[in-house]
Amino acid sequence: MEGEEEKNLLLFDFDGTLVDGDIIFTMFEKTLSKEDYASVTDFEHLNYAEAIDKYYKLMKSYNKTMSDIHPILEGMKFNEGIPDLFTYIRENKKKFIVLLITGDDLYPTTYFLKKKGILDLFDYFIGIPSKLEDGETMVKVTYLSPHDCNYCDKSLCKNYEFKKLIEKNEKFKNYKLFFICDGWNDYCLASQSMKNTDVVVIREGFKFSNMMKEEKFNKNIKSNVVYWQNGKEIIEYLKKYT
Ligand SMILES: [Zn+2]
Repeated sequence: MEGEEEKNLLLFDFDGTLVDGDIIFTMFEKTLSKEDYASVTDFEHLNYAEAIDKYYKLMKSYNKTMSDIHPILEGMKFNEGIPDLFTYIRENKKKFIVLLITGDDLYPTTYFLKKKGILDLFDYFIGIPSKLEDGETMVKVTYLSPHDCNYCDKSLCKNYEFKKLIEKNEKFKNYKLFFICDGWNDYCLASQSMKNTDVVVIREGFKFSNMMKEEKFNKNIKSNVVYWQNGKEIIEYLKKYT
């Protein structure tokens, strides 16, 4: 139907939103010794992309391949109701442009989405670039160009990367933006790139929802704010606001 096509931008965070837990830290925890875990998560000296890069290089030095890591990625679980939400999105795909926006590197996250059969629903991917090149057995990380946001981790500011995408796709500026998220690193984009017609869909009981109880944070949010505990509630918000 005319007027219904692609007027909405669905922006999905990954860890804690699509899945229960954190895919990168799960990967670290399940494959590294205590000492190696500590060296890879030395965030006094490493930004997040450097930590992930260090991890893959370390695994390679131990002659591990991605096939050793794949079962861990596949073992991640969707949050409740997320499969229902993606069934709804598939049935109504004409209305939505779907984006993944994560602070993680893109290999594990997209691998998971592919295994779960929903990768094809995503139109754009924002994250730390990483891939398994032909003939290689371990993922390689590429660093993004630096941003000047003081709030976010040095490796990626979701707001900065999102703005770059919008600049390349002018028509998205007028789309209604839904940002489905849960974490502290989602606040930057929500407070700076969302209009009063947009909807930030925050997971109840997690970091971002706790921040929203403080005036110093919530005063900067111009969009509608709703809270979710289950993917089925997100379907209702999409119906209500589109
Ligand atoms: Zn930022």
